[in-house]
Amino acid sequence: KYAQPDRRPAVIAGASSGIGAETAKALAAAGFPVALGARRVDRCEELAAAIRAEGGEAVAHPLDVSSTDSVADFAAKVTAGLGDVEVVISNAGLLGPGRIIEVETERFGREVDVNLLGPHRLVRAFVPAMVERRRGDILFVSSDVAVRARPFMSAYTASKAGLEGLVSALQMELEGTGVRASVVRPGPTWSEMGMDWDPEEAAFVLNQWVKWGHARHPHFLKARAIADAIATVVSAPRGVHISPVDVNPEAPV
Ligand code: NDP
Repeated sequence: KYAQPDRRPAVIAGASSGIGAETAKALAAAGFPVALGARRVDRCEELAAAIRAEGGEAVAHPLDVSSTDSVADFAAKVTAGLGDVEVVISNAGLLGPGRIIEVETERFGREVDVNLLGPHRLVRAFVPAMVERRRGDILFVSSDVAVRARPFMSAYTASKAGLEGLVSALQMELEGTGVRASVVRPGPTWSEMGMDWDPEEAAFVLNQWVKWGHARHPHFLKARAIADAIATVVSAPRGVHISPVDVNPEAPV
């Protein structure tokens, strides 16, 4: 009754770098067939080929979570290629720096479009079929900023807090359907995110990290640590729901 099916095709939205790429590797190593999506599809294709070379099952298709048509097209291709999707990892994210009074509303909106409306598009594209089959996982990569606001990344903070509101409501709506909606909240993690920041601004934010109470230690996690947490959550037996999960760096020994 609590066993998961042997074959569980998994979608990773935002699989071209960082946490998403590591999650694709971790899930493939755990035996999940994986579908990788992002705008930089060449990177996804390269990673899918590497997974196949290791004996895994992997496909890659272009995906822009800020476009409803792109998400629908991606979902159709994945289902045609891998079969019914059992697991969706909503990981695509965008982070821009800036003080609230300086950020143009249009740019604020672009972050909300990827970080909040993107997950909603993924829900609409994949969850109805899961509800029909009465099982499945949709996992949202949130952020520690969702529960403790952080300055100078206002649109990001607001969109991740909004995302957690969406997930809480979704969990209630999915009660009794057999479909799990879960949240993983990474602390500071090495990836390509924030690489385009002004170095002085980035250093300031990192130096304030502990003072703002977001992490007990101003160190960065490896993306693989988040990927392993994600794989653990979606691998839980049926009848068990692990969420939310906070992943933070431990103090150096
Ligand atoms: P990266 O910048 O390395 O990865 C972001 C991923 O999102 C890329 O694969 C990118 O692919 C994809 N993406 C961005 N915009 C879109 C879009 N419109 N459509 C589809 N894919 C898109 O950063 P991380 O690995 O760090 O970020 C992954 C998640 O982790 C994000 O949700 C982020 O908010 C969250 N997170 C990260 C933390 C950190 O410290 N790094 C801390 C807390 C949370 P492409 O550009 O090819 O489309």
